[in-house]
Amino acid sequence: MPLYEFQCFECGLKFEKFAKAKDQEKECQCGSMAKRQQTGSFSFSFNQTIRDPVPQNTGVASIDHHIDRVIGKSAEMSWAAIESRNSDKREVMRDYQLDSKHAIGIDPEGHYRPITSQEIQASTVARNLNNKAMGVIKRVPKEEREKRVHIKKVD
Ligand SMILES: [Zn+2]
Repeated sequence: MPLYEFQCFECGLKFEKFAKAKDQEKECQCGSMAKRQQTGSFSFSFNQTIRDPVPQNTGVASIDHHIDRVIGKSAEMSWAAIESRNSDKREVMRDYQLDSKHAIGIDPEGHYRPITSQEIQASTVARNLNNKAMGVIKRVPKEEREKRVHIKKVD
């Protein structure tokens, strides 16, 4: 089977994969379909949303092709970063002999480590407190409205 270059419609990742001559699409690691590239041509634009600064639609193929490459490169770097974080996590899980259900936290230096049961408890307490506080905050405007209605009735 020949080696073909594919580029993803969604995230812009470019990758090479062995494929049959009839295979025009392969699944990307983001779960979307990547389209096979024709050698030397960039015949589609993928669904990447480009925000601020908006590139000009120059109609010049070489510039459009360059934007595709930049986005492809950025997707490649994002996927490399995700892969590197996942491998850090796997390393921590192996070192501490954790199963996949064990919570892993990240410290301020960006290193992964297992979360202790005290931390899980503390975070549960904090979440419950936060929910309670949000409940109080949400009730205030309603009480305020009821007060105003009451004052109007007295007037
Ligand atoms: Zn993708």
